[in-house]
Amino acid sequence: MDIQVLTQYEKSALHERQPLPEEYLRLSDREMASRIGAARRTLGSRVVILGHHYQRDEVIAWADATGDSLKLAQFAASQASAETVIFCGVHFMAESADVLTAPHQRVILPDLAAGCSMADMAAIDQLEVAWEEMRTLGVTDVVPVTYINSTAAIKAFCGEHGGIVCTSSNAHRVMAWAWERADRLLMLPDQHLGRNTAFRMGVPLDRMVVWDPELPYGGLSADQLRAAKLILWKGHCSVHTRFTVQQIERFRQQHPNGRVIVHPECTHEVVQAADDSGSTEYIIRTVRNSPEGSVWAVGTEIHLVNRLANELAPTRTIVTLDAMGCLCSTMFRVSPNHLLWVLEGLVAGQVHNEIVVPEPTRTWAKVALDRMLQLP
Ligand code: SF4
Repeated sequence: MDIQVLTQYEKSALHERQPLPEEYLRLSDREMASRIGAARRTLGSRVVILGHHYQRDEVIAWADATGDSLKLAQFAASQASAETVIFCGVHFMAESADVLTAPHQRVILPDLAAGCSMADMAAIDQLEVAWEEMRTLGVTDVVPVTYINSTAAIKAFCGEHGGIVCTSSNAHRVMAWAWERADRLLMLPDQHLGRNTAFRMGVPLDRMVVWDPELPYGGLSADQLRAAKLILWKGHCSVHTRFTVQQIERFRQQHPNGRVIVHPECTHEVVQAADDSGSTEYIIRTVRNSPEGSVWAVGTEIHLVNRLANELAPTRTIVTLDAMGCLCSTMFRVSPNHLLWVLEGLVAGQVHNEIVVPEPTRTWAKVALDRMLQLP
């Protein structure tokens, strides 16, 4: 059995797509589809394939379920009869699925190089140092909250220190839960989701500070930390921070009656300039339910935007906010070739790219995930 677990550092080092055996390269679309279909039929209900919304169409075509990371992890956990879950997404998603699925189920990530630049911005040793430094400064009344887009080690730290996981759909409920337990919370790794959500909940910007893990004591004084309700980790999504206020202004000039909806991983200025913001599931729901004839500019990953545009044409017009197209290059690493390789491996009795979260990380990460899942 070929079990591979990527550490934070190994994952960061893998910037290229995972090499495939020669026989999986240069296949025609037709041969690829025929072989994926054949392997799929042979494996039947023993395998379930999950596709994140940001995956390319040739991969999504084979997914038994599509959704955001939380929806897919929950779906995986509900598929007890499937012994293998193939998660077409990025590394932290496969880790969450491994934590939430039953012991008899295995989780496979088709390309181990499919990481997430945001998750990589919060390393566990950086968090441990930050936590100690806050204590040295006498700031102890803090609940750690991590976005689901983080490593299992960061989730485990939150679980072990009274903290919790959030998603972009439930960040406001999770943050309210955390503030019931402490004066301030530390939000990792995405500063923008934290800032946008807290601002919407009525927290003024001057009660938020940014912790820079590259600087001693995060670059903050004890007084700044004590005055803060929200300590934001200095992390961001390299895809969603590409959207700008100028792009919104340009769209409004071209479509005076059009509406703009963006993901809360965008900067505060962009979220403020947009008409609406929310998770990928919220964006899909809002645009689908809009009146016929609506025109939308959507600020999220290009594969989702293009699929929505195709699905809703010609009754609604959907365009990307970034004319150059905002692609998540790590999501794009999962190719149909990788999917075929792991499927045919299973048919031959070989397990490639299994993601196993080791103990005690698994147990504590589950504590943090379960706290979130138990919220009303
Ligand atoms: S879109 Fe951003 S947060 Fe999502 S996987 Fe890609 S880099 Fe990570």
